[in-house]
Amino acid sequence: MFKLILQLLYPKRCGACDLPLLESENFLCTACRIELPKPGLFLKRPNWLSVKFDGLFPFSDVHAFFLFSPGSKVQHLMHQIKYKGQRDLGTFVGAWCGAHLKNNIQMISYDLIVPIPLFPKKYQERGYNQAACIAQGIHEKTQIPWNDKLLHRTGQSKSLVGQNRVSRYETLTDVFKVTNPEPLKGKHILLVDDTLTTGATFLAAAEKIKAAGASEISFLALAALK
Ligand SMILES: [Zn+2]
Repeated sequence: MFKLILQLLYPKRCGACDLPLLESENFLCTACRIELPKPGLFLKRPNWLSVKFDGLFPFSDVHAFFLFSPGSKVQHLMHQIKYKGQRDLGTFVGAWCGAHLKNNIQMISYDLIVPIPLFPKKYQERGYNQAACIAQGIHEKTQIPWNDKLLHRTGQSKSLVGQNRVSRYETLTDVFKVTNPEPLKGKHILLVDDTLTTGATFLAAAEKIKAAGASEISFLALAALK
């Protein structure tokens, strides 16, 4: 009864459209689960995602679970995960993405998931890294191990506004640091982040992971901007 009153007073809301959820629904409403734009994983190359990296880095795969557009439900969802403390929503959606990954046989080539780290100051303010929550969700469905203790951000980078994609990439490269290369050596690493826009962050992190001895690198963003 008490639970019912609480639900009436403070209804759980959908992380994407913000409408109240039914008792049987968790995190996202049924309509959003069906309708949120999902471009598909393991797209044939070249595709709209791979062109962000082609010619800049020898990567293996690039995936985006959702298509991101300004003002969309996906943007609202990402905002909840990043800025509204909804880490469990991040893990839930990560697990959903993991379930789709698991349906593809190529998935088995990934040895280790490494989430893109936050700047230490941002981590302290937020209390969690949303990319790590997503990585944990993917792990829950695929059993691919994940580790957020290998790659770090060493400081705040200069503003990237107005720079082209090559200089963005160069500016960011020194921001990442591998502190323990051993678990990366000879492995196919799946780098995971919440949002993919230009790809500069993935490229800069990949450069350091590769230098640490990884044999292959792939990228997965929960949402990507076309
Ligand atoms: Zn919804």
